[in-house]
Amino acid sequence: MAHKIEHFIDGKKVAPQGGEWCDDVNPATGEVIGEVAMDELAATQGAIESAKRAFRGWSETPVGNRCQVLFRYKELLEQHFDELTQMIVEEHGKATAEARGDVRRGIDCVEYACGAPSLMMGRTLPRIAVSSSFSRESEEGIPLDSSLERIPLGVCVGITPFNFPIMVPLWMWPMAVACGNTFILKPSEKVSLCALREVELAHEAGLPSGVLNMVTGGPDVVNHLLTHDEVKAVSFVGSTAVAKHIYKTASTAGKRVQCMAGAKNTMIIMPDANKDAAIDGVIGSSMGNTGQRCLAGSVAVLVGDSHEWFVPRIVEAAKQIKISAGGEIGCGMGPLIDEASVARVTKAIEKGVEAGAELILDGREIKLSGFVGPTIFDNVPHDSALAMEEIFGPVLSILRVETLDDAIAVTNRSPYGNMAVMFTDSGYAANKFKDNAGAGMIGINVGVPAPMAVFPFCGWKDSFFGTLHSNGEDSVRFYTEGRIIVSRWF
Ligand code: NAD
Repeated sequence: MAHKIEHFIDGKKVAPQGGEWCDDVNPATGEVIGEVAMDELAATQGAIESAKRAFRGWSETPVGNRCQVLFRYKELLEQHFDELTQMIVEEHGKATAEARGDVRRGIDCVEYACGAPSLMMGRTLPRIAVSSSFSRESEEGIPLDSSLERIPLGVCVGITPFNFPIMVPLWMWPMAVACGNTFILKPSEKVSLCALREVELAHEAGLPSGVLNMVTGGPDVVNHLLTHDEVKAVSFVGSTAVAKHIYKTASTAGKRVQCMAGAKNTMIIMPDANKDAAIDGVIGSSMGNTGQRCLAGSVAVLVGDSHEWFVPRIVEAAKQIKISAGGEIGCGMGPLIDEASVARVTKAIEKGVEAGAELILDGREIKLSGFVGPTIFDNVPHDSALAMEEIFGPVLSILRVETLDDAIAVTNRSPYGNMAVMFTDSGYAANKFKDNAGAGMIGINVGVPAPMAVFPFCGWKDSFFGTLHSNGEDSVRFYTEGRIIVSRWF
């Protein structure tokens, strides 16, 4: 029988009690590797109380000491790099190289959070005014000084998706705890083992009990966290439908909220683009991580006659991708996360055919349970679901347009605004695109313009709800409150 995946509360693993369960499955083999308790409100309450108890001592710990734990944690992550990579491959199904990227980009976030002593620094402006003295005998005015401090909020919560099991939680809790908050992580029920190991290693690095807790679960657990009086801030990464629910519920309950959400990202191919770079960039962007990425370029907009070289070459490149379990040597594409995703992607392909798009590479022909291979549609109707809706699988929709202006207009019709990419040799076209495309992350001759941890993860429109994004200085602002002090001394 598969083992029950523990929570991590108050510095130790806590066995779940029961109720509704969800299987944690290796998507390449279908093997059940764990069972996740979905609705443990008692454990959730325990995590909240633990985080509340730990807050005072942790927030009063000097920021340099807090960061010492993160320096040790970074070292431990490096030492356990291969183990974590292997866990991702097994639980999520990614190709090994992609799993390594997941861990590496997560470590980048820990490194950035180690800079909290300078990132949290406030400001001082002496002599903002000179007030007249109470005593008329004195001729001298009394100066007023003013300063701004950044102070932690309290108990913060992170709700994370399945597609980057190690990295996305590391977008959140290292900066939150570096700033002096305590944290409760609710990872995706599909990758809770990876999250548990990430949390366990943080305690091996010396994080005190209660500073970081983890509860497994689903919507009931999330909803309990969103509305609890002790929770001050909520970070969410996941689909747009759930993001809207989280944003509304948590902000109505008075929490600070940031929700990084779904996407449908456009890549414009100009006729003058470097052909090798464009093919390489579009293949990596659309098919990487089996299309399960919020920065997946899932729509290629071909301008003018670029379709003449682009279409045959992209199909040829997609056919070269080796499809296998993520751990196999040379794997270029692993399985989808679960059978429900296989059904969703298959349905999207069927709907694409019904909408009149031309299916030029059919990933359903891969007769491997749990897998859908690279799929490409040409001549996709501009208003069809294939062009407008997130599929979250290895499906590339090709749209054809006449001009650069048409391509930008197509890009901007999307309700989403995570990323937009252009391949071109023209600085003029690139600048026009950058200035007019309605997306927060722009790639120019780059297929996946993922920001380094020092920059915010800058989605717009239905790809983000909130004001301050994850990562970069936004995250420091998100996890701290400003406090202004105006003082004068007699
Ligand atoms: P999801 O929305 O299904 O789940 C995300 C989290 O929300 C999980 O922890 C899940 O347990 C919880 N959840 C699910 N339904 C809920 C409900 N009704 N109420 C409360 N909580 C609920 O997302 P997913 O399938 O795990 O991840 C894929 C999605 O995440 C895609 O849409 C992708 O674009 C998005 N994503 C966005 C970013 C970004 O930065 N914008 C990054 C990664 C993934």
